[in-house]
Amino acid sequence: MTDLLSAVDALTKPESEHHVIMSDYGVYRAPIYVRTHTVTHPPLLERLREAVNPSKNTAAGSSALASTRNLIDSDALYEYSKMASAIGSWCNAFKADRTRNPITDLRRWYVAFQQYDNEPQWYIDELRHWATLIRNILEPPKRIEITEPCPVCGKRAYTDQDGNELLFPVIVEYRAPKDEGDAIAPQALCRACQTVWKGYDAVAELAEELKQHADAHG
Ligand SMILES: [Zn+2]
Repeated sequence: MTDLLSAVDALTKPESEHHVIMSDYGVYRAPIYVRTHTVTHPPLLERLREAVNPSKNTAAGSSALASTRNLIDSDALYEYSKMASAIGSWCNAFKADRTRNPITDLRRWYVAFQQYDNEPQWYIDELRHWATLIRNILEPPKRIEITEPCPVCGKRAYTDQDGNELLFPVIVEYRAPKDEGDAIAPQALCRACQTVWKGYDAVAELAEELKQHADAHG
């Protein structure tokens, strides 16, 4: 059950982020450790709710440009509504009292869930998926377009959802880890044949294949 609790905690508890501060002496001396600076962020679900309407975010959003204040992030709104409504129906299904605050309700659901003899894996997967979705909205992963053809299907172009023919089907997505626990493995996708390379080893293998192709043709 600890996996379920940690998946619930990841969405409902504040998160600490540690930044290691190093001295910078330029090229003359190696940097040395100065101190660790810790920043605490509100729970992921709360940050998603704040992302829906940045003008209501009095903490970090107060410095936002006036012209951007009335914008509503529709991706954030869509995901937040889906999660809030799922939490609501889980509460109903497990007879937990609802408050309409998804954070409180998710924790109440967790307590109620313990009274039943249910297999938690589906919920663990779902909650982990939410945490990834929220992190992607708050801090989108970096994307690189590979200008070599896909080593699997050999295509240089792909067709997007709107039927447009576009160049460079292979993209790599990654995110710089904030600390070890937050490391998200890179992933590559061919938008022509839908091949996915998941994780460091798979992406390294893809890079090797692309390099061989480039050497052979370049
Ligand atoms: Zn391909």
